[in-house]
Amino acid sequence: MRRHGRPPGLGVVLAGENPASEVYVRNKMGTVAAAGCRAELFRVAAGATLAEALAVVAALNADEAIDGILVQSPLPEGMGADAAQRVFDAIDPAKDIDGCHPYNVGLLVQKRPRLVACTPLGCIELLERERIPLRGKHAVVIGRSDIVGKPMALLLLHRDATVTVCHSRTADLPMVARSADVLVAAIGRACFVTRDFVKPGATVIDVGINTLVTEAEVFRCFPPGSRKRAQFAEKCRVLAGDVHPDVAEVAGALTPVPGGVGPLTIAMVLRNTVTAAENRVS
Ligand code: NAD
Repeated sequence: MRRHGRPPGLGVVLAGENPASEVYVRNKMGTVAAAGCRAELFRVAAGATLAEALAVVAALNADEAIDGILVQSPLPEGMGADAAQRVFDAIDPAKDIDGCHPYNVGLLVQKRPRLVACTPLGCIELLERERIPLRGKHAVVIGRSDIVGKPMALLLLHRDATVTVCHSRTADLPMVARSADVLVAAIGRACFVTRDFVKPGATVIDVGINTLVTEAEVFRCFPPGSRKRAQFAEKCRVLAGDVHPDVAEVAGALTPVPGGVGPLTIAMVLRNTVTAAENRVS
């Protein structure tokens, strides 16, 4: 073990006032700090300009005690449609904890990953720890975002799965999904993946985190007498994944929401922070 006289440092940039983002950031920073790293929050006001957000990133790039930078999405709409990409482009690739910089994306494409997006990395960790076979298996990823769907597909491909990426324009999605041995849902639509999307025995990874606030949505997703309906009656809101709970009756394995991919994502924030720190001092 080598000593460097300081803990790994993570700088988290939180722009605007999104309640879900507040929770995610609190959980990520809490875990990183509990492991002995330094975790610092940098707030950017909801009405701030893109230039102000970029200035925060530039200061973190220059800060020697910061090894990793995480910009929580989404950014306020007022910053413009391409704000997230502009901000990710500005992060020093060596400090890019969510692997969003084009340089890190390129390394991933070429199977030389350095820093990879935390959520897909967490999904892979989950599959590998559960010893789910990937080589030669058909993996279907629903969702093609830069932060989840695309890196997920590449990580599966690099583990010798045959990968199909589906999206909002895919024809006969249930039929394609039903051919999957491993099905990853990263859509952002509550309980969208129903049992007719799932081959019996398939492994299903539910990445979605959706907050339900209407009775109609809750009734569509959860049966009478369920714990979720009781939770909704008490709190007027409840979390649901992209996968309908009935899928548990068909799937070989299904990740829960909450408590599945979310905690693994947070663990990967910690891992990437330590990796970035090690890379910077070596
Ligand atoms: P996104 O909105 O950027 O992408 C959603 C994708 O779903 C798009 O590629 C789109 O083509 C696809 N899609 C939308 N409607 C569809 C339809 N009807 N049929 C097929 N495909 C459709 O979202 P994202 O950032 O990739 O996140 C996806 C979900 O994962 C969200 O619920 C988000 O909250 C959740 N998420 C969870 C974690 C975690 O830590 N668990 C991390 C990131 C995102």
